[in-house]
Order: sequence, then structure tokens, then C-alpha cells
Amino acid sequence: MMSLLTQNWLPLKYNMRTVEATIGMPSLKQQVICRYHLIRFRRKLDLLDAGMKLRLLFPIIVTVAALAVMAFGAWQLSRSRTYQVFGEIVPRVEASEKVVALTFDDGPSNVGLEFVLPILRSREVKATFFLVGSALEANPTLGAQIAAEGNEIGNHTYSHPRMVLKSQSFIAGEIERTDHLIRSVGYSGPIHFRPPYGKKLLGLPWYLNKTNRKSIIWDVEPEPYPEVAASSDRILEHVQTKVGPGSIILLHPMAMSAATTREAVPKIIDALLADGYRFLTVSELLSLQSK
Ligand SMILES: [Zn+2]
Repeated sequence: MMSLLTQNWLPLKYNMRTVEATIGMPSLKQQVICRYHLIRFRRKLDLLDAGMKLRLLFPIIVTVAALAVMAFGAWQLSRSRTYQVFGEIVPRVEASEKVVALTFDDGPSNVGLEFVLPILRSREVKATFFLVGSALEANPTLGAQIAAEGNEIGNHTYSHPRMVLKSQSFIAGEIERTDHLIRSVGYSGPIHFRPPYGKKLLGLPWYLNKTNRKSIIWDVEPEPYPEVAASSDRILEHVQTKVGPGSIILLHPMAMSAATTREAVPKIIDALLADGYRFLTVSELLSLQSK
């Protein structure tokens, strides 16, 4: 009994010896009553403690939830093909006639151009090549060749980073340096901009808008779907299903590993020509928008 009481009363700073000296040894009934009240008191303390913890935790929970919502919103914004906070984003244009823009991203590379340029030439089709500045710097003659054949060249940044959470000076460096390289290979046409991976948040649209550039995105993109990308016929089928007047088609034929995409290029061009489509450069397509 002693140990029972001592164990329970001590936390409340009661001295058992003092109690015994004052009131004598408590009876069993008194001990039971004491223990009952002690348990109730402890429960109240526990409840108070839980309430206090909840009050302390509540702002933390709200902050974490708000941050999660903001992060999700930012992620959605960064990958949106149709919305950006500043300036204009163009995934396609409104067109009443059957026109499309065929766009090739990355490079230039020998393996890509050796295949793609003769196909464009033989079908008298012009495409828009969004080139990476560093690759163009390494292969200026390839850039000159693209331009000499009447194709359009676009800016796809210098080092192909995700242009999210970057400083204005970094963004300016990536874009202006690449524009300069594009001009240095003898290209004199309009230079449009396409963000790598289509990613942007606030800084990139701010800079593009400030410098009167648009974000040229796409609305037909077969390659991210593995089951589609595995076969040139399925790439063609995907394009035929998704394309419409004013579409912007995105392909990546420049990488060594992109043989299937390269195989799909003539199939897509032939099928769309047979379906009555005309191929325009991005600038030509944009000019329809302003009419
Ligand atoms: Zn790219």
C-alpha cells in the first residue's frame, strides 16, 4: 500500500512521511479514494496537455498544408501548357485552314540533320528548329545549314536547364547568348523562344514578356508516352489523332537514341500532306493569329 501511495502522490509533491505524521496511516478506503481522485486529476492534466499540444501544433499544421498547396500550385503552373502568369504562351493557334508547324527541339546534331533535312527538302516542307546554344556553338555549320535551307531557328536556351527559380541575370544570359549564336550562323529570321521541358514559373515569363518574346509550346507531343514512342507507326497514329488546324507538333530527332522519332518524321509529313495540311514555320503560324 505504501508503495502504491508513494508512487502516485510523489509527483504531486506530497511527502508521505508528513502525511503519515499528521493524519496517521491512511485506511484502505482512503487510499482507494485518493487513487481514484489522482487518476481523474491526471486525466484532466492529460486532456489539458493534449489541448495545449493541439493549440501549438495547429499553426504548424496549417503552415505545412499551405506550403503543400502552394508547392502543388507552383508545380502545376510550371508544367501548364496553356497558362503563364506574364506574357503569352502559345501551345497552338486558332486557324480556320489545315496548317501545322513541325518543330524539332534540341541540337543541332549531325545524326539528326543528316536524316531530317533531306526529308524536309524533298517534300518542300519548312520546319522550326529550337536549338540549344551550347550545341550550336559546337556545331555552327549545322545551324548555318538549317538556316540556308529556309527553315526557322528558335532559341531553346544555352544550356537547356529547367528555367524555374532562376535569377533574371541567369535567364537573360541563357536567352541572349543563344540569340547571339543563332545570328552568328547567318540566320536573319524571327527567333522565337521555347523553354526546355516547357517549364517556367514566374521569372522566365517575366523576362520574356519584358523583352517582347512569347513562350512557344506545343499541343501535339507523342514522345512522352513510352508505348507510343516505341514505334514510328504509333507516333504517326498519335499525331494523326491529336493534330488539328493550327497545331504545333513537337519531336526530338537530334539524339543518337531517337531513331524511332526520325523514322516517324517522313511518315508524319506524308500523312498530313495527304490529309490536306500545309506545313508552316512557327512565325507563319503566329501571323495567322494576328489576322
Ligand atoms: Zn529540349
